[in-house]
Amino acid sequence: MKKTLVVIKPDGVQRNLIGEIISRFERSGLKLVAMKMMQADAKLVEKHYTIDPKWFENVGNKAIESYKKKGMTPPNSDPIAVGKEVLERLKKYITAGPVVAMVWEGSSAVPLVRKICGGTEPLSATCGTIRGDYTPESYQLADGAERAIRNLVHASGSTEEAEKEIALWFNNKEILDYKLIRDMIIYDVDWSF
Ligand code: GDP
Ligand code: MG
Repeated sequence: MKKTLVVIKPDGVQRNLIGEIISRFERSGLKLVAMKMMQADAKLVEKHYTIDPKWFENVGNKAIESYKKKGMTPPNSDPIAVGKEVLERLKKYITAGPVVAMVWEGSSAVPLVRKICGGTEPLSATCGTIRGDYTPESYQLADGAERAIRNLVHASGSTEEAEKEIALWFNNKEILDYKLIRDMIIYDVDWSF
């Protein structure tokens, strides 16, 4: 069993999509083991996105690629500098209003949650995913307005990232250990009515 962090970002809260988003994880067979509504501050956002030291470079490369795809010149050719700019935008975005932080547990929780959320850019995210279904947001719209991509949810990118992110957002007491009768049907070898 693995755990992963999901955060409904301020646009998800403001769009009244909290219930809709939670229901997608509930019906997937994952188990909710922690949840709280809170106001994040810039310090938390910075810590969160710098957990993986390669994040600046990765996000910078992704952003530069998206500029090139549109035939535009990236604001900077150094991926780390572009990554740092994205972080500044993220601080504004994630602290703009309350968020809902959750921990979901289950088999392959990290990739399953990423699949349910869809790709980073809602416009190109697959239909049927949270990001693909609820917003026309694109790299073009976000970069044109010099803001972060408003994509409704955060989901941990790897098990290692998930462990560190969960420890950042929750203390041990907030994470519950309990059984769901439903899990017998999902996981047990033998079960009968
Ligand atoms: P995720 O794991 O799919 O959320 O994507 P990343 O970890 O690469 O980026 C974190 C967040 O930064 C994304 O969810 C977006 O909100 C924002 N973001 C990522 N790349 C860009 C970009 O190229 N431009 C802008 N404006 N925002 C971005
Ligand atoms: Mg990420």
